Amino acid sequence: MSTTELPAQQAPPVEEAPPVEEAPPVASLSPSRASDFMACPLLYRFRVIDRIPEAPSPAATRGTVVHAVLERLFDLPAAERTFGAASALVQPEWERLLELEPELAALLDPDLAEGLPEFLAGADGLLQTYFGLEDPQRLEPAERELRVEVELESGLVLRGFVDRLDVAPSGDMRVVDYKTGRAPGVGFEAKAMFQMRFYALVLWRAYGRVPRLLQLLYLGSGEVLRYAPDEADLRATEVKVKALWEAIARATESGDWRPNPSRLCDWCDHKSRCPEWGGVLPPLPPPVHEPVGIAALGVDQGSGPGKP
Ligand code: SF4
Repeated sequence: MSTTELPAQQAPPVEEAPPVEEAPPVASLSPSRASDFMACPLLYRFRVIDRIPEAPSPAATRGTVVHAVLERLFDLPAAERTFGAASALVQPEWERLLELEPELAALLDPDLAEGLPEFLAGADGLLQTYFGLEDPQRLEPAERELRVEVELESGLVLRGFVDRLDVAPSGDMRVVDYKTGRAPGVGFEAKAMFQMRFYALVLWRAYGRVPRLLQLLYLGSGEVLRYAPDEADLRATEVKVKALWEAIARATESGDWRPNPSRLCDWCDHKSRCPEWGGVLPPLPPPVHEPVGIAALGVDQGSGPGKP
């Protein structure tokens, strides 16, 4: 991993001080925002350039709670990691989240389709599925909610959060991510695995070791996607990420953020302002005084703690 450090310099006398130059901002990209741009450049613009807030949903909120429970579960001694113990963590984790984001209470109005009992039962159902996929009593994760980051030779920083990293005595790494939705259909697995290749690339560049296995656990459908990457895969991912970054920088310079309508539009929070659906684009926010395509782009905790 690397960070940008400015060389130490002797301070010049005050009267000779040169104009203040800001440290160059860091260009960074997370897998979530990279996926947004690949799916629809306009969606990327709404999220990253305009920074328009999106309404929380019960499903995404439940995902946040389930991720927190699965992280906390491994605080317990191995023999105590039962479904009952996980289920007992659901309500406290929900209440902890509610303290941080009180507005989420409005999602679970008893008059709506999903009240609190249904919400908690839904989280229990996802955890039940988890216990059908693996036995946490037999696992000792090396890391949970691990922030990973690396600077590529090009200066682009890749970062994100890995749900779980297992490391064998041999040093072999397994990267695990929980998804509370359903597994992708046939033909869409590679797209789903992009995020994991991204993490594998970061770990490889940071630690010099290619992760042995990438594993996606789909708690919505009880399926597991596994992939064993090699160096050639990760080199290809690096080329792809670099090309993606260049495309994002071009769109930033030109202001041309093309909509790419798809089934995703049915879940898009920005449909009402999307020209593909009769909406009117808001004006672009004033440019920040930073190099084009830098700093404001793709910097997020997109796949950070609590992601669904
Ligand atoms: S509604 Fe569809 S096309 Fe428009 S921004 Fe959202 S995903 Fe893109």
